Amino acid sequence: MNPAALITGASRGIGRGIALELARLGYDLIVNYAAHETAARQTATDCVAAANSAGHALRVETCQADISLAADRAKLLAFTRQRFGRLDLLVNNAGIAPTVRADLLDASEESFDRLIALNVKGPYFLTQLVARWMIAQRAAGILPPGAGPKIITISSISAYTASTNRGDYCVSKAALSMLTPLFAARLAEHGIWVYEIRPGLVATDMTEPVKAKYDPLIAEGLTPIRRWGTPEDVGKAVVAIAQNLLPFSTGEVINVDGGFHLRRL
Ligand code: NAP
Repeated sequence: MNPAALITGASRGIGRGIALELARLGYDLIVNYAAHETAARQTATDCVAAANSAGHALRVETCQADISLAADRAKLLAFTRQRFGRLDLLVNNAGIAPTVRADLLDASEESFDRLIALNVKGPYFLTQLVARWMIAQRAAGILPPGAGPKIITISSISAYTASTNRGDYCVSKAALSMLTPLFAARLAEHGIWVYEIRPGLVATDMTEPVKAKYDPLIAEGLTPIRRWGTPEDVGKAVVAIAQNLLPFSTGEVINVDGGFHLRRL
């Protein structure tokens, strides 16, 4: 039986990149999305094709669920249980930027609440639900010893970088960064490892509106590796974790940012 992964927000962008890399590794997949059903179905089709080329036969299912809503999170878990009966890997990827980049002195409470609900509360309580299920799966022997169920959260360089035109996003990602040490400390005794992947500037729909602004900055060396990141770059970091290449590490942050985080003089 294939291992199974649930990726939130996998219809487009980074989540789609992660899904494709896990498909090549032979994971059955739940491709979650919020609104773009056609994009989710396309991701699923492409995952099956990528897996076939790598010699794997996969089951890939799409599931609409708004991660900010408790009822939808429960629906997503029930769907995963019903379809696969096991879960080896959760990737908390779904996240949003503010609709309008507003100065810190003008930004609205409405935007703040929206971002906290999806970027923080959603993954926090989805992880709680999944962790309970993973513990039960270990106890029932569904996930054999050594299988090492894992939880990965996609945060951002905005967790520590002050951007005064999107304070709500920065605060949400800084708060999200505490999820990993918390759940890593709590779940290690159950053999469940927890990681944060912290992407830098990645070319997706989210960053398309600021592409023209960042292109020259990247060319001038904003990131030591002078290119945009790709969803595939993030997917490969997920694969390293999924392949058990970090067996004595939990609670780790993996920067996938072209070296953006390096202090330079
Ligand atoms: P994106 O291209 O805008 O894609 C967002 C994905 O999240 C889509 O699949 C979307 O589904 C889904 N989504 C949106 N709202 C949702 C909700 N309420 N419930 C469930 N799914 C929802 O974004 P991205 O650039 O790939 O970003 C993915 C993650 O990486 C986010 O957490 C983001 O903060 C983080 N990140 C991005 C960058 C970057 O430079 N792009 C850098 C650092 C971190 P639909 O297609 O149905 O709308």
